[in-house]
Amino acid sequence: MDMYALLDKKRKGLALTDEEISHIVRGAADGSIPDYQLSAFLMAVCIRGADDGETLALTRAMADSGARLDFSDVPGPVADKHSSGGVADATTLVTAPVCTACGLKVAKMSGRALGFTGGTIDKLEAIPGMRVELSPARFREVLKACGLAVMQQSADIAPADKRLYALRDATATVESIPLIASSIMGKKLAFKTDVLVLDVKCGRGAFMKTPEDAVLLARAMVRIGRADGRAVRALVTAMDQPLGSSAGNALEVREAVRALSGQCAGTPLETLSVELSAHMLELAGTGTLEDCRARARRAIEDGSALGRLQAMVEMQGGDPRCVTPEGAECLLTARIREYLRADRAGVITHMDALKVGNAARLLGAGRATKTDAVDPAAGVVCLVREGDRVEAGQPVFELHTGEAGRLRAAKTLLKDACGIGEEAREGRPLVIGVE
Ligand code: URA
Repeated sequence: MDMYALLDKKRKGLALTDEEISHIVRGAADGSIPDYQLSAFLMAVCIRGADDGETLALTRAMADSGARLDFSDVPGPVADKHSSGGVADATTLVTAPVCTACGLKVAKMSGRALGFTGGTIDKLEAIPGMRVELSPARFREVLKACGLAVMQQSADIAPADKRLYALRDATATVESIPLIASSIMGKKLAFKTDVLVLDVKCGRGAFMKTPEDAVLLARAMVRIGRADGRAVRALVTAMDQPLGSSAGNALEVREAVRALSGQCAGTPLETLSVELSAHMLELAGTGTLEDCRARARRAIEDGSALGRLQAMVEMQGGDPRCVTPEGAECLLTARIREYLRADRAGVITHMDALKVGNAARLLGAGRATKTDAVDPAAGVVCLVREGDRVEAGQPVFELHTGEAGRLRAAKTLLKDACGIGEEAREGRPLVIGVE
């Protein structure tokens, strides 16, 4: 096929056929189409859009570009949960063990932090000894023995997405609904769990800034999943201010352990984790949503969920003391800790998740490019939330880093991240919609 003709067709806004899309994705995976033509294709999709048929074809071609993992040999419903990317969002570390304690198997293939968003794999690697590079056989062993297993994105799964994502990152074409939907769901079609719950983030600290766009993305992904015969549901959730109080890898593990120990009851992190767990349990056919919520809360209260996380950490080589309330100090702590204080008294009018995420990255918790190393101990702890009253001089953020030279830029960003005034703005509900 002539790639020039396909680009010309897409630039004119005409829909590509399934065969034409397969040709492009195959060319991305085997290297036969050069970066400049793939980049032009991505930009054309970004500007012209892609219809449902094209988006499904793109997703299927992504999944077909590599290996597949299915769990038909693992007894019990196998579930997965995926977030479109947020800040201070340790829900996977809470939701996965909660669902496991309630009888599901949870299989997760996760990514790393990129830009302002965190990644579950970096968080788990903050636990000394933890191995996240698992062979499919070892992954299944952990899943069968512990009820949950988390591995890093395997290079064999949807390899075309790896190349296309890197090009999107460099060509300002990340924020396109068909491209995000096919990127996420291509990996999900290749990683075939029975149940999939998607957490589509919406707001300042998310790729989707408006509820309208977030709902369109959620619907696109649910349509793809259902066309593949999967039990899939999407929750559109607020990501204007950081979800939890900690943005940074070891800091988020500590917060997840506190949540699993019942110390975060009623916080947005705990509330959303219970809600996502309840949807996973209900979608797996284990009870009504209300009943599933109650079981999820019980699994936190009776410590069974924390026990599941400890079992998985131990079997994946990590130090299980790090995921106990008493042993959280086994996790690395940053050499330098500094407060940023309120310059006047008032109410926190807003707390910008994007800026907090970027400040955590500047302190060493995240990376600007895929090859940057992360500092497991670095990050930001938000000591207040929108609507809280503060006095002049009260600490608002705690900055953690290993390098003093990183503090200045992070502080500048954080000063701007948090507004102090008379009255907080009306926030969105935590769960904006369910698709
Ligand atoms: N996560 C992905 O895997 N792909 C995207 O395009 C955005 C978030």
